Amino acid sequence: MTYDYDLFVIGAGSGGVRAARMAARFGAKTAIAESYRVGGTCVIRGCVPKKLFVYASHYAADFQEAAGFGWHIPPPHFDWHTLRANKDKEIDRLNKAYTANLEAAGVEIIPARASVLDAHSVQLDAPLESTSKSTSPNKNKARQITAKYILIATGARPFMPELAGIEHVISSNEAFALESLPRDIVIVGGGYIAVEFACIFHGLGVKTTLAYRGKEILRGFDEDISRHTREEMEKKGVRVLRNQQVQAIEKKAGRFRVQFDNDSSFDGKPLDDSPLEVGLVMYATGRVPNIEGLGLEAAGVALGEQGAVCVDAFSKTNIDSIYAVGDVTNRAQLTPIAICEGAAFAQTVFNNRPQKIDYRLIPTAVFSQPPIGTIGLTEAAARASYEVDIYRSIFRPLKHTLSGSAEKTMMKLIVDRKTDRVLGLHIVGADAGEMIQAFAVAITMGATKAQFDASLAVHPTAAEELVTMYEKV
Ligand code: FAD
Repeated sequence: MTYDYDLFVIGAGSGGVRAARMAARFGAKTAIAESYRVGGTCVIRGCVPKKLFVYASHYAADFQEAAGFGWHIPPPHFDWHTLRANKDKEIDRLNKAYTANLEAAGVEIIPARASVLDAHSVQLDAPLESTSKSTSPNKNKARQITAKYILIATGARPFMPELAGIEHVISSNEAFALESLPRDIVIVGGGYIAVEFACIFHGLGVKTTLAYRGKEILRGFDEDISRHTREEMEKKGVRVLRNQQVQAIEKKAGRFRVQFDNDSSFDGKPLDDSPLEVGLVMYATGRVPNIEGLGLEAAGVALGEQGAVCVDAFSKTNIDSIYAVGDVTNRAQLTPIAICEGAAFAQTVFNNRPQKIDYRLIPTAVFSQPPIGTIGLTEAAARASYEVDIYRSIFRPLKHTLSGSAEKTMMKLIVDRKTDRVLGLHIVGADAGEMIQAFAVAITMGATKAQFDASLAVHPTAAEELVTMYEKV
């Protein structure tokens, strides 16, 4: 049987783009459908614009801290429109670069909303959002195509709970394009996106409340790390409400009243200002696989929890010709994972080199203030399977001896007592994301505590603490 394409990819985000480019380079006739903008979440409304906002929000503290080093700066003024416009310019540049790279690899880009009809057929409809730009305008007419293989790489979308007034809230998608900054905001959620945006808005001068229904923010992270990060955020002025569930949101005279289910926060502090009245409410309560309108159930593709596409270790679904990579499979919702899965798929199917991903050691960063860098097991997870030694250090970074900031860095090593192997490494402090990338090499190689100790320190740095931790907790 002949097909229109060897590979048809649905979704031009981190996973889809990598898979399409590699497959085309291996000689596959490849097309990719994108219903919004080439680049996907990471480039258009995720990691990249977020990190640019993180940089922007840091300046507030930097200007303040400069005085301790002798710099006297007139009160600085922040202009949201300049930041948003410059961010948009950079995102446009990246969107064009991604498009050009796909085209250079020989991938046909189709600006369309795609759905799966059966094991080898895809329906293409005009995109719902009109920002997708075609290199050949006739290509976005509704039509059907066939392909030997179909790759689903449609990512995830923000989860919104059912709640009175939920139509008034924004998600991270809208946060990148606000017309103006509110005076005050409630961010609901306790995951890394909620935490990062709380720090961003706070840094940009917005009075920020982070409200989370659990006991501690950043569930799944090492408990010391979550607590330390929250305490540091509170020191800086972010209000963190724990044990609080929103009951309803009401719009009144251009403001929003957020009603909580508790009269006091987790630590017993009374909520004397409930319902909280703010200029904006943002929800960051998780992301669910983006399978709406994809026709997967009708096509017989097996779906799991929250609609995640079920795949085997080679990203193959229950249908031999349909694969899925990235957030839509809900394995680990991170860009490097989507990219690795896309690459492994292309190697497996089009280069005769079957590849699996090892998910055991995923280094990751949270760009909070201060940021987090982490790899390996949390103390709780390690204790469940190993006898461990814990090394922990909390210290004032050298910079803050003059800056006037009360920020403290925390570093933690979790070591298997039997083998001496470092099972987990966790950092809260400036440049934690950069540090964890470098330490990830050692941890992935199976480094032992003795090898950490044998590494010479770089002085004066914060990272040297990790190779000079001699006292067990
Ligand atoms: P996506 O990049 O989401 O791409 C999916 C694409 O499919 C989209 O472009 C979408 O428009 C398109 N699409 C969907 N349905 C259809 C259809 N029916 N037809 C055609 N096209 C369709 N990860 C990190 O590693 N580090 C970070 O710092 C980080 N920060 C983040 C911050 C935010 C605010 C968010 C939201 C995410 C962040 N992530 C981060 C996660 C990261 O963005 C995702 O893990 C990554 O983008 C997943 O890639 P993907 O290819 O699976 O999906």
